[in-house]
Amino acid sequence: MPIRCVVCGATGRMGSTVIKLIESEENFELIGAVERRDHPDLAVDVGYLLFGRNNSVCLENDLRDVVAGADVVIDFTEPDASLFHAEVCADKKVAYACGTTGFTDEQWKRFLAMASRTRTVYAPNFSVGVLVLSKLVQLAASSLSDWDVEIVEVHHGKKLDAPSGTAKKLAQVVAEARRDVGEHRLVFGREGRGSERGRAELGVHAVRGGDVFGEHTAYFLGPAERLELTHRASSREAFARGALAAAEFIVGTEAAAVYSMEHVVEAALPPLAEEIPVLAGLEPSKKERGG
Ligand code: NAD
Repeated sequence: MPIRCVVCGATGRMGSTVIKLIESEENFELIGAVERRDHPDLAVDVGYLLFGRNNSVCLENDLRDVVAGADVVIDFTEPDASLFHAEVCADKKVAYACGTTGFTDEQWKRFLAMASRTRTVYAPNFSVGVLVLSKLVQLAASSLSDWDVEIVEVHHGKKLDAPSGTAKKLAQVVAEARRDVGEHRLVFGREGRGSERGRAELGVHAVRGGDVFGEHTAYFLGPAERLELTHRASSREAFARGALAAAEFIVGTEAAAVYSMEHVVEAALPPLAEEIPVLAGLEPSKKERGG
C-alpha cells in the first residue's frame, strides 16, 4: 500500500517539487493538496496546475477538509500556517513532516508543544548532505576549539526569512560542540567602525539573490590557516527526497514526539557489516605481504 500524503503549500516552490516527486514514486500517493485561503486556483486539479495532467486531487484551503485517510501531512508553508497544520495533525493523530522555517522563539515554543502531541519530524533542511555537513561542523568546532567561526548562507531572493533556519542550526551546533551555549554572541552582518571581531562572536550572514536553491559554508578561521566546509543544493529535489524519506520514517514510527533528520537517517542506515570488506584492487600485493 502506498503512503497516502497531503501536501500543504502545494503550489509553492517546495510543495510543488514534493508533489512532482510523489507522482514519480510508486511508494507514495497524493490524496490532498492545501493552499492559502486567497489562492487564485482553489478547487482546480493540482495535477493539471503543476504538470498539465489531471490527478483527481483538487486544491483545498483547509487541511481539516482533506486530512481524513491520510498517513502523513507534508508541510512547506510559513510559520503561522504550520502552527495550524501541527494542531490539526495533533488533533487527528496523523503523522506530520514539516520543513517550514522562520519561526519566532514564541512561535517555535507553540509549534513544539503542538507537534509533540503527534508523530512529527521537523527539519529546517531535509537534505542528507546538510546533515553530514552539520556532523562535520560539530567535529571541526570541537577539534579547532579556539578558531573563529563564521557561517555564510546564500539563497534565492524570494526567501522570506534570514538567516536561514539551517544557518541558525549550524551556529547552534558550533555552540553546543564547544559547550558554550549562551556564551557565544551571534552577529548578523557587520557594518561601520568598531566592527572589530570579539572572541565570543559567532557570525551568521545571509546573501540573497538569483535562483540559488541553498548554499551553506562554515568558515573555521585559525592562525595562518582556515577550513571551509560547504554544502550546495543543485536542485530542490534534494530537500523533496529528504522530505519523502522523513515522511516514510514518521509513518513507521509509533511514539508521539518531534523527531529530526538524524533519526530519519539513522533509521535508514544498514546495520554495520561484521567484517570491513576490502575494496577490489586495494588488497596488499604479495610483495607488500612479504610473499
Ligand atoms: P513558497 O513561498 O514558494 O511556498 C510557500 C507556499 O505556502 C505558497 O504556495 C503559499 O501560498 C503557501 N501558503 C501560505 N500560507 C498558507 C496557508 N495558511 N495554508 C496553506 N498554504 C499556505 O516557499 P518555499 O520556497 O516553498 O518554502 C516554504 C517554506 O519551506 C519556507 O519556510 C522555506 O524556508 C522552507 N524550506 C525548507 C526546506 C527544508 O529542507 N526544510 C527547503 C526549502 C524551503
